[in-house]
Amino acid sequence: MTFKRMGLLPEILKAVDAQGYIKATPIQMHAIPAILDGRDILGGAQTGTGKTAAFALPILTILNENRHTSKARKPKALILAPTRELADQVGESFRNYGVFLPLETVTIYGGVKINPQISNLKNGTDIVVATPGRLLDHLGQKTIDLSEIEIFVLDEADRMLDTGFIRDIKKIVQALPERRQNLLFSATYGNDIKALAKDILKNPVSVEVTKRNAAADKVDQFVYFTTKNQKRHLLAHLIQEESWYQVLVFVKTKHGANRLAAQLDKGGIPSSAIHGNKSQAARTRALNAFKKGDIQALVATDIAARGIDLQDLSHVVNYDLPNVPEDYVHRIGRTGRAGKSGIAISLVTPEDKQHLQRIQRVLKHTIPVKTNGTFKPVVQNPHPISSYPEQNNAAKTAGKPQQKAQPTYRTGAPQRRRRRSA
Ligand code: AMP
Repeated sequence: MTFKRMGLLPEILKAVDAQGYIKATPIQMHAIPAILDGRDILGGAQTGTGKTAAFALPILTILNENRHTSKARKPKALILAPTRELADQVGESFRNYGVFLPLETVTIYGGVKINPQISNLKNGTDIVVATPGRLLDHLGQKTIDLSEIEIFVLDEADRMLDTGFIRDIKKIVQALPERRQNLLFSATYGNDIKALAKDILKNPVSVEVTKRNAAADKVDQFVYFTTKNQKRHLLAHLIQEESWYQVLVFVKTKHGANRLAAQLDKGGIPSSAIHGNKSQAARTRALNAFKKGDIQALVATDIAARGIDLQDLSHVVNYDLPNVPEDYVHRIGRTGRAGKSGIAISLVTPEDKQHLQRIQRVLKHTIPVKTNGTFKPVVQNPHPISSYPEQNNAAKTAGKPQQKAQPTYRTGAPQRRRRRSA
């Protein structure tokens, strides 16, 4: 189905065309007419399904119809997102899809100065995209007035609950007018989401594009069995041998992210880590370098990776399996997006076997196991030289180069992309 007969404004069709979209994705096909009809929506859709356009296009259409132009105008649509990255992307999407319309979007989130946000709000806006914490700061300081909100969107609602935002959401809902249209999107549909949906939505249309808790169809999933010691070598080997040029690697901890990115980088795979301890500027820099292809592997924790929009992502790797099985579905949703196919690899150690079983129970199928015939385990030096000071000294005095415990990666095919800048 094309976008033409859905009742969207010509200016929006032009913008959609400029984005290169030809057909509406399933969520867009079902949600757009229902939203234009004024209905509340319960959307079962994860990132990568085109859900942002599914709500942004009709919202822009509705708001443009009753447009106010005064500088003192108050926002009419509020979109709540769980992370700064997602808020940024959703804000960008509204600007892109609304490029031929005179509607303004302001994005507000924490970790950056509040004053520019205040002045943006003062200049009058139609759409606000926000993370809950900073929005509450604005409400507390009375620098935002939500009394004229007509459409309220909770994006990635399950993420929002995972991050403990439920109280914040409830406080925000209290600041909204009773009469409004509500749209709730969530990749998973546990009891807490059901309760929230019951609280917020009125007689909603249910739009579901992925089976509940089922991974995207377009993603080929594989498991490699390995050990803790060999994991990073196997990963480097796969990246190089199979020339993966854009791989998102999930790890459990911030420290682990830094360490793995440094190790891959040292082994000739340009890599960067993103996690909660990095500043917003550093995260954006790493993300942009990754999108441009300057960085081949982006190593991320779940929290940092939430909501980041990456197109054409060929590979997602679960370097550490997620603690919560539903996170597996979210993670692999980063690949195989909007009709493109992708590959999701999980590196599983004997310690992870139970985790894997839990994930497979949620998926309701087993993940095929792969072996890599050309990977030869890297033998680690069992006694790092540094633990034998007298030998170190002997090696030095003999003028011999000091042996390093750091292994070199054996490679197959050459890398497709190299770092263009340091
Ligand atoms: P989302 O699920 O909103 O994160 O969107 C995932 C990606 O799909 C984004 O990069 C969009 O630009 C892209 N996208 C959204 N709708 C379409 C469409 N109808 N055709 C092609 N790509 C799309």
